[in-house]
Amino acid sequence: MSDLSVAAAQRCVIEAMKRLGTETVPLQQAQGRVLAADVIANRDQPPYDVSAMDGFAIRSADVANAPAVLEIIEDIKAGDMPRKTVQAGQCARIMTGAPVPEGADAVIRVEDTEAVGDSQVRIKVAVKARNDIRDRGESMRDGAVLLSAGTEITPGAVGLLAMVKAAQVEVWRLPRVAILSTGDELEGLDDPFDANKIPDANSYALMAQVQALGIQPVLLGIARDEPEHLKEMLQRGLQFDVLLVSGGTSVGVHDYVRPTLEALGVQMKFWRVQMKPGHPMAFGVAPLTWVFGLPGNPVSSMVCFEQFVVPALRFITGHTRIYRRTVSARLAHAVKHRPRRAEFVRVTLSADGNEYVASSTGAQGSGILLSMAVAEGLLVVPADSAGLAAGERVMVQLLDGTAYQQAAGWE
Ligand code: AMP
Ligand code: MG
Repeated sequence: MSDLSVAAAQRCVIEAMKRLGTETVPLQQAQGRVLAADVIANRDQPPYDVSAMDGFAIRSADVANAPAVLEIIEDIKAGDMPRKTVQAGQCARIMTGAPVPEGADAVIRVEDTEAVGDSQVRIKVAVKARNDIRDRGESMRDGAVLLSAGTEITPGAVGLLAMVKAAQVEVWRLPRVAILSTGDELEGLDDPFDANKIPDANSYALMAQVQALGIQPVLLGIARDEPEHLKEMLQRGLQFDVLLVSGGTSVGVHDYVRPTLEALGVQMKFWRVQMKPGHPMAFGVAPLTWVFGLPGNPVSSMVCFEQFVVPALRFITGHTRIYRRTVSARLAHAVKHRPRRAEFVRVTLSADGNEYVASSTGAQGSGILLSMAVAEGLLVVPADSAGLAAGERVMVQLLDGTAYQQAAGWE
């Protein structure tokens, strides 16, 4: 098997994915999930023409030569039904959301009026017909498709679902995801401190990456570099829909992960990708499980997760937009690169006028989590690049948390 390009490996992963069927969840838990069925309006909203303001429902012809004094014939609150018809020279006091009475064709906001005794009002401005009236059905029309299947449930979508009284929502199922670390050198989070060991960072970094996609994974712990123990742990992992294994996928004599997976019936689709960090990256398919063999180095495993596991989990969960958003940025400094593998450089983004400026977050070794912890994006250096110059336009893949900035930015 030759090394695949990142794009070819991504295609291979996505071709192997499918959705896991649908389930019904309470509306209170639907945020972030993906609709498995269209959402259809079951009423006109508003149900009749209503006032957009607190004010007076009038006949526009009566105020064409404003100011004009009109007689107030009734008070209409939201939830009331008007009882009278507004005739020439008359008006009704009306509240926001209340139905516009027969005879009236416009609303004047209270700020543009002044009281004349108890039963009359002076209208100070002329308005056109339909002024400050919300049309029946302008928010939704009975029978219309409001949201189509495949739409992510945002807070606005939750509001719409409540408008159609969808207490239960049909969404795509979430996969059950297991995470396994491998290596005799690893020290678990709850193990006693031993300065000669390597703390298991991958289980938790990967856990957080999975959680950021709205899925709660199960941590299987640490497998030793010993075929029998590894086999037992991998077998456990193969009970899940998705298994993420880190470490042991390279070509060292103690890297048993690939042969053990194969012995357990996992069909390996690829096990090396032309990328840095992340070259020893494996992907295989078992009857019930998609298996990602991620590199042991903490940054490599996270970067591989971003390239392959993010689109896979997004696909499985029903999303149609499965890749991280990329933005164009100007490079703050030169980046060295030898043509061969695509490289992902950890960067922060700052705004300069209407463009982004990308700067490295520091030392880029594949074990240096510090520069990953503060990164906002991964700058993509194409495989055939001979290096990038300061000021060059580059492509940056955004990471979680990039939808925020320090100041509101419009003043
Ligand atoms: P491997 O691919 O197993 O040879 O691991 C490559 C490097 O990543 C080694 O330096 C390992 O110690 C390190 N490593 C492997 N697994 C983890 C882990 N779960 N947490 C932190 N470092 C790890
Ligand atoms: Mg290892």
